[in-house]
Amino acid sequence: MSQAIQAMRAGGPEVLEFNEIDTPRPGPGEVLVDVAAAGVNFIDTYRRSGTYPMSYPHIVGSEGTGRIAEVGEGVASWSVGDRVAWHEGPGSYATQVVVKTDNLLRVPEGVSTEVAAAMPLQGLTAQYLATSSHEIKPGHTALVHAGAGGVGLLLTQIIKHLGGNVISTVSTEEKAELARKAGADEVFLYGEGVDVTAKVRELTDGEGVEVAYDGVGNDTFDASLASLKPLGSMVLFGGASGQVPPFDIQRLNASGGIFLSRPSLAWFVRSSEELAKRSSMLFNGIEHGWLNFRVGATFALADAADAHRALEGRETTGKVVLTTA
Ligand code: NDP
Repeated sequence: MSQAIQAMRAGGPEVLEFNEIDTPRPGPGEVLVDVAAAGVNFIDTYRRSGTYPMSYPHIVGSEGTGRIAEVGEGVASWSVGDRVAWHEGPGSYATQVVVKTDNLLRVPEGVSTEVAAAMPLQGLTAQYLATSSHEIKPGHTALVHAGAGGVGLLLTQIIKHLGGNVISTVSTEEKAELARKAGADEVFLYGEGVDVTAKVRELTDGEGVEVAYDGVGNDTFDASLASLKPLGSMVLFGGASGQVPPFDIQRLNASGGIFLSRPSLAWFVRSSEELAKRSSMLFNGIEHGWLNFRVGATFALADAADAHRALEGRETTGKVVLTTA
């Protein structure tokens, strides 16, 4: 038997239960992993709450780290005992999970368990946002909302590494300090009554930014769009404050011929080669010290509901991790 966190129905964190389940078995092209730690991501809350359609009950989670316990038929390049992390392993809030080998990363022994659990989803997302959704060039200025969050801190560091400038928004002074430490050039609080666009224009001599990376969504989308230079990139990658409602596409023209995208990690790691290439940049950053993964909170697997409350309550910074030990 294994233990797992199941969402019993659509709803708040209270629908999460810590249950005994049958240990899953790996099929062809899959491995069974003993989970050391699982990463907590906003998408887990969208799936739990029913914002994204799911069947119930389902085991929550999609990323983690651990060691391979069993390999399925036809798996040649992975062995029992290999240390791995993964970015799309449905049911990762568990002591054991089955993962497709296409979604595995090999984790160097020098990387801690918590960092390995933190890396795949937020790390790869920050990597593709800065290199592919909009390719940061030296001198570009980016607006990064929720700059002390999991994606925000990593995205800021990667943009700086690529020679860009970062204007970051956060909700508290404590978060502002973290965003600054990650390298943000300018940080301001975007609470009620703050005119984000006016502030961004003031900080860019009226010009605006080349790109707005917006994972906050509903509360910030309009301000992000209005903060761009002509021909700028509006990259909407999430909806922590709620999903952006449908809007008139002519607004892109009126705002300066803006390039709008709504990307998702899955589209940027469609092959093992692409996954390896993107993750190698992250491992390189860890090894050479220009990329720091902040694990802001660690909870026991059984306390996953508290982790969701903290994430949705804007109490967290950096990554939230669940440990099985
Ligand atoms: P974060 O650690 O960034 O947490 C979310 C942050 O959003 C909060 O800490 C808070 O920061 C800010 N926020 C603003 N308004 C709200 C609100 N009403 N409720 C809750 N939070 C709010 O989370 P992640 O790094 O895991 O994810 C960030 C975004 O990126 C999410 O939207 C997520 O869905 C998205 N994402 C998208 C991916 C993709 O490929 N498209 C992949 C991974 C994540 P503050 O207090 O400073 O305002």
